Amino acid sequence: MHAFSYQNGLLHCENVALTTLAEQHGTPLYVYSANTILDHFTRLDAALAGIDHEVAYAVKANSNIAVLRLLANAGAGFDIVSAGELYRVIKAGGNPAHCTFAGVGKTRDEMIYALQQGIYCFNVESEAELRYLNAVAAELGVVAPAAVRVNPNVDAKTHKYISTGKSENKFGIDFDSIEDLYARAAVELKNISLRGLQMHIGSQLTSVKPFVEAVEKVKPLALRLKEQHGIEFWSIGGGIGIVYHDSLASGNPSWWQQQSADTKPLTIEDYGSAIVPLLKDVGLKILLEPGRYIVGNAGVLITSCLYEKKGSAKTFKIVDAGMNDLIRPALYEGHHEIAPLKEQQGELVKADIVGPICESGDFFCQDREMPDFQAGDVIALLSAGAYGFAMASNYNTRPLPAEILVDGSSAKVIRRRQTLDDVLAGEVAE
Ligand SMILES: *Cc1c(COP(=O)(O)O)cnc(C)c1O
Repeated sequence: MHAFSYQNGLLHCENVALTTLAEQHGTPLYVYSANTILDHFTRLDAALAGIDHEVAYAVKANSNIAVLRLLANAGAGFDIVSAGELYRVIKAGGNPAHCTFAGVGKTRDEMIYALQQGIYCFNVESEAELRYLNAVAAELGVVAPAAVRVNPNVDAKTHKYISTGKSENKFGIDFDSIEDLYARAAVELKNISLRGLQMHIGSQLTSVKPFVEAVEKVKPLALRLKEQHGIEFWSIGGGIGIVYHDSLASGNPSWWQQQSADTKPLTIEDYGSAIVPLLKDVGLKILLEPGRYIVGNAGVLITSCLYEKKGSAKTFKIVDAGMNDLIRPALYEGHHEIAPLKEQQGELVKADIVGPICESGDFFCQDREMPDFQAGDVIALLSAGAYGFAMASNYNTRPLPAEILVDGSSAKVIRRRQTLDDVLAGEVAE
C-alpha cells in the first residue's frame, strides 16, 4: 500500500495535503503514513500465517517512539542493535521479552541492561562476544539466552555497503565452523542458554532467490542444532527490498521514466509463498527482522527549493534539506523519486538537486529529468521512511527536522524540530 498520491493536484499523505504540513511545520520535514506502516506489517504477518513465526521490526530503520508504539500495539516484536534502541522500545510500550539484540559490538553495559530487562535473545556475532556474554551473565548470576549468527556465504546481490552474508563481510560466524562453536558453548559456557540460530544476508534485496538459497543452505544446520542443543527459534533476518522507483500510489506522472531492477517489486506474497514451504517442517519458531519493508515507502522528506543555479555544465536546484537529513544517496547511491507538492505540467529539465552542506556528496539526485520547480516551490523526496531520519545528524550545525505521523485525516507531531539550543545542549565552552 502506498498512501502518497496526488488529489486535486496536491500531493497527499493519506487524507492530508503535504502543502498544509509544510506551511504549518516548515521544511525540511519528515512525514509518515501510519496506515501504510500497519498495512505492511499486517501483510507480512499474514504471508507467514502457515508457520509459527514472529515479525521483529528492525528498530534501526526508523526508531521514532510513535512508530514503535504503533507496531507494538499491532503485535510486533523488535530487533534492536543497541541499549539505546531497547530503551526506546520500552519507552514506546514494547515488551523486552519480544526483543532480539543484534550487532557485532555489544558493550558490557549494553549486555547488563539487556539482561536486566529480560530480552528474548542476544544474537551473537563472534566467539569472543559469546564468551564475554557468558562472563557478564555469570557476574550477574543469570543465564543469558543466545543465538549465533551464521554467515551463509550467499550473495544478496545488493549494494556492497548493505550486503552482509558473504564470507568477506564482518557479520556472523563462518558456516563451516559454527557447529563446533555451539558444541563448545554447550560444554563450556554455563551461563549461556543456546536458544536459536540467526542469519541476515543483506538489505534491499529485490529478488526472492538469495533468501531461498540461504534458507535452503542453512536449514540442515538449523535442524541439527535443534536436535543437538534444543534450540527453539531460527531468525532468517530482514532485508526485503522495496520499490524506490515509481513509488506513488496512483497516477504516476508521465515524466517518471526512470527504470531499474527494483521497478518490479518483490511482493510480500511472493516472498511468503517461496519461503513458507521451506520452513513449514523445521519445527522451529521463525523470526523475521524487516526494517525497510515496513517503513521505507511509508515516509517522505519534504524540502523547499531555495535557489536555482545554472552553471556551464549543469543546472542545480538547491533545497533546504541536506545529506545530514537524508544520507542514503551519498552513502550508498540510494534513489528517491522527486514529487513537487503541487503537481506540475510543462517541459522537463535535467538537473541536480543538492543541499546546503559543504560536501560534493550532498546531492539527492544527479542529471535527472524533473519538473522545472523553482525557488519557493516545495518537493517531496519519496520512500524516505527507512534509514532517513534514523541516520540524520547535526552536521554543519543543522537542527534535526521535525517528524509528523499521519493517520487518516489527522497529523501529529511525533518529534518537534530541534532548536539551536537543543543542538548545543551538553557542550561546554571552557
Ligand atoms: C539492519 C538489519 C535488519 C533490517 O534490515 P532491512 O533491510 O531494513 O530489513 C535485520 N536484521 C539485522 C541483523 C540487521 O542488521
